[in-house]
Amino acid sequence: MAKLKQYVNLPQISLFVERGIALLDRLGPVHFKTKFKTDDPMLAKFRTVLVSEVSPYTEAEKKRNRWYKLREPIGVEISEGKEMVPGTTAQLPPSGGAVYKIEARAGDKTVESTDEIETWRRLFFQTFYMKHGSDPKKDVPNLKDTLDYYEKKLFVELLEVPEGVRTEIPYLENATADDLIRLVKPKYTVKDREPWVLALVFSNALPALNVIEIGVDVSGKVDLPGRMWGNAELVFELPEGKYAWWGFKPDDDAENGGKGIWLRGDGKLTADGKDFEIPKDSIKLDTSHSFRAGKGFNRLRITLPEKARNQNSIFGKNASFALRLLVADGFSGGFALRDENLLTVARTAWWRDTEKTETEKLQTLNHELGHKLGMVPKGGRHFGGRYELDAPDKLYGDVDLIYGPENPSQDVKDYVKRYDNSKGHRGAHCERGASAEKADGVWEWSGKPECTMFGANAIKGVSALQKFCEVCAKLVIRQNLDPAHSDAVLSFKSLLDSR
Ligand SMILES: [Zn+2]
Ligand SMILES: [Zn+2]
Repeated sequence: MAKLKQYVNLPQISLFVERGIALLDRLGPVHFKTKFKTDDPMLAKFRTVLVSEVSPYTEAEKKRNRWYKLREPIGVEISEGKEMVPGTTAQLPPSGGAVYKIEARAGDKTVESTDEIETWRRLFFQTFYMKHGSDPKKDVPNLKDTLDYYEKKLFVELLEVPEGVRTEIPYLENATADDLIRLVKPKYTVKDREPWVLALVFSNALPALNVIEIGVDVSGKVDLPGRMWGNAELVFELPEGKYAWWGFKPDDDAENGGKGIWLRGDGKLTADGKDFEIPKDSIKLDTSHSFRAGKGFNRLRITLPEKARNQNSIFGKNASFALRLLVADGFSGGFALRDENLLTVARTAWWRDTEKTETEKLQTLNHELGHKLGMVPKGGRHFGGRYELDAPDKLYGDVDLIYGPENPSQDVKDYVKRYDNSKGHRGAHCERGASAEKADGVWEWSGKPECTMFGANAIKGVSALQKFCEVCAKLVIRQNLDPAHSDAVLSFKSLLDSR
């Protein structure tokens, strides 16, 4: 008996009859075909029978989403001649690793198919990279083990298209999501496979541009020394991990006559209950003081107007400073765009001189791909969608402001305030093997993450895994991976249509 692979997430189009798929019949729903011994008209009925499955849908999941149930043809059909190809089909649930056999009943006789069907999923990716140095191995990590893992354990075939081709895009030291879309668009050649295809981009560094308000998001407390100690200038250092948006992109630095875009408006100093305006021109970035290799500027030098200076010659006094800044709030190891079919992994993790290992890159790739494949689902919880699988026991961060709606409703915002369980990370993640405690308003993680869907790539130097934990792996196996489906978890909207 042969076991035929049935690709439940692909449509019946000839483009997908390739690389191990020999017939249109192997795509999408199950089509029946019967041979009769005589050409007398016969009433026939077909049935798909589940033999085994790796990850069954729960009753709650089937109740929420009808696609998780096997949908059989109803009624009987009449044969004409010795061959019969009924118009009806069986729509299999979208999970992988489920084995079915076919039964046909005609007259009082039931016949079983000689072959069984096993459900599979297949998705495609085009690889892009920024050429960096002399060693091309550093540009694209070896993806073989990752692709094998998806195929052997998760019933997902991830195929590179065009096969074996890696497309170079211009090098950009620091890239944002918009930059990546702009660089990839002209070299993107896989539109015919949308929406089953992703752009996988190996980039250099991915700083995150953020707005912060000193005095609101971070403390603006300052000490004004007495005049004798020279108090015409106030030195203000941004807190750890935050750096003024300077030196990341030449275009940004060139704006405002070369002053850059990091400074947003005038500042304000409050002392003895009085406010003093600090004009923009009095605020400078100290580029003689930097973090690592001449990059990362976090010290501001502020010339205080005469009246804002501490008048006392000896004693200092407390004051507070307020200012709006654009900062680089750390670097991301990689990200998947929320809607568009683009996923990126960075070569460097934190500033440009910190090279990520191959293992770290693959961990990021798996994690971000996991998000794209609908991880971690929140079904049955407050913000879980009807189409989502049941949330696993170790889900945290289920108020999902990244992969959730773009403009969260008031309901969501209120919920975040009251029940936010994101524990310092953002988005829905898996905390198996790790635990978090809040100390002085900050979440402290400990333990060893056992799942690639942990919300960070490490806890104090202990790396998260490249693989899903057992529970999450079972979820990936039964996710609906047909992006054309209105209930699918994937958002593989064309990057060509965006921005
Ligand atoms: Zn994540
Ligand atoms: Zn997990």
